[in-house]
Amino acid sequence: MVLGILKEDNSENRVSITPDTLAALMKLGIKAVLLEKGAGVQAGLPDEMYTSQGAQVANLAELQQKANILTRIHALNGEQLKHLSKGQVLIGQYNPLMDKDVVKPLNDAGLSAFSLDLLPRTTRAQAMDVLSSMATVAGYKAVLLAATHLPSFFPMFMTAAGTIKPAKVLIIGAGVAGLQAIATAKRLGAVVEAFDVRTAAKEEVLSLGAKFVEVEGAQESAAAGGYAIEQTEEYKQKQAQAVHDHALQADVIICTAQIPGRRAPLIVQKQTVEAMKPGAVIIDLAASTGGNCAVTEDGKTIYYHGVCVIGESNLPSTLPRDASAMFSKNILNFLKLFFVKGEFKLNFEDDIVAATCIAHEGQVISERLKAALQVH
Ligand code: NAD
Repeated sequence: MVLGILKEDNSENRVSITPDTLAALMKLGIKAVLLEKGAGVQAGLPDEMYTSQGAQVANLAELQQKANILTRIHALNGEQLKHLSKGQVLIGQYNPLMDKDVVKPLNDAGLSAFSLDLLPRTTRAQAMDVLSSMATVAGYKAVLLAATHLPSFFPMFMTAAGTIKPAKVLIIGAGVAGLQAIATAKRLGAVVEAFDVRTAAKEEVLSLGAKFVEVEGAQESAAAGGYAIEQTEEYKQKQAQAVHDHALQADVIICTAQIPGRRAPLIVQKQTVEAMKPGAVIIDLAASTGGNCAVTEDGKTIYYHGVCVIGESNLPSTLPRDASAMFSKNILNFLKLFFVKGEFKLNFEDDIVAATCIAHEGQVISERLKAALQVH
C-alpha cells in the first residue's frame, strides 16, 4: 500500500501526517509514503524531515495516481476529486454532519472516505480521537489569545506599585476544550469558574481547582454518548440569567459549548455583552457552528460595546506543529484497524471503521451520518 500525504490549502498550517509517525506506519504495512511537496512546511516540517524518515517527495498528480490511501485534514474540492480513481481511500476530518455537501462528491467518485470526527466516544476510539486532540489545542490557545487581548494581567501581583487583582475567567462548556482552558487559565493565575449542562462535568471542573456554576434543571440523555443535548426553553432562560450575572464580574469568557451536528447553543446574549466590563474579552470557539455568543462573527475579531469578541474556529492551525503531531498519531492509530499482519482490509464489522465511513462503493456506511442525511 502507498500512502500519500496531501498538502492543505494555504489557510491551514497543519499537515495530516508528521515525520515522527512514518516509521510506525511502515511497520504496519505501508510500503511507500509520498509527500506532496511542501505539505509540512507551514507546520515547521520541511520536506527533508520526511525524506530522512523514508518518504518520497512528489507532485500532486503523482500522489493522485499512485497513492492507495490519501490523508488530508480538510476535504478536497470537486476539481481535486476529479483526478482520483475508484477505490482510493481518503482519511481526514470532513465535518459531514454540518457540511453535508462534502459527502455526495466522494460517493460519486467511488472513493472510500473516512471522517475521523465521526468516531464514537468509546475507550477503544480514544487514541484516534481527532476531536479531543484538536479541542485540547483550541482550549489551551484560546486562553493565550485572551491573555494577549486583555488589557490586564492574568495573575495577581503584589508589587511596590500596588496590588494587581487576578483576572476572572468564565468558561462555558467544560468538555475537552473547556477543561484544557480551565487548566491553562489556572496555570496563568486567573480565578476560574465554569459551567456545563452535563452533571459529570462538575467533578472535573472542581478537580482542576475551578468553581462550578450550578444551573439546575439541565436535561441529559444516556443515548447521546457522553455529549450534551438541546435544552428546554425554560432552562435556556435560567442559564442566560446565570451567565449574565457571572459575566458582569468576568474579564474573560471562553465559549466552548457544542451539540454535535447542530447549531451551537446560544448562551451569551447581546445584552450580557453590553453589560460586561469594557476591555473584557470573549473567545468563541463555537464560532463556525453559529457561536455561543450572540455578537460573534466567525473568523473575525470585533469590538462590541468595548468588549473584544474573537470568533475563532481553527485555533489548532495556529499551533500547527503539535496539532499536526497529534492528528498524525490519531491517524496512525486509526490505520491500525485496517492492517492485519501487514495486509490492508476494510473491515466494516469493526464499529469504528463503520462509524467513520462516509463513502464506500457509492454509499454512506456511517449510521449516524445516514440519520443526519435521512438516507437508508
Ligand atoms: P463538545 O465539543 O460536543 O461540547 C463541549 C462541551 O459543551 C460539552 O462538555 C457539552 O456538555 C457542553 N455544552 C453543550 N451544550 C451546553 C450548554 N447549553 N451549556 C453549557 N454547556 C454545554 O464535547 P467534547 O468536549 O468533545 O466532549 C464531550 C464529552 O465526551 C465529555 O463527556 C468527554 O469526557 C467525552 N469524551 C469521550 C471520549 C472518549 O471516550 N473517546 C473522548 C473525548 C470526549
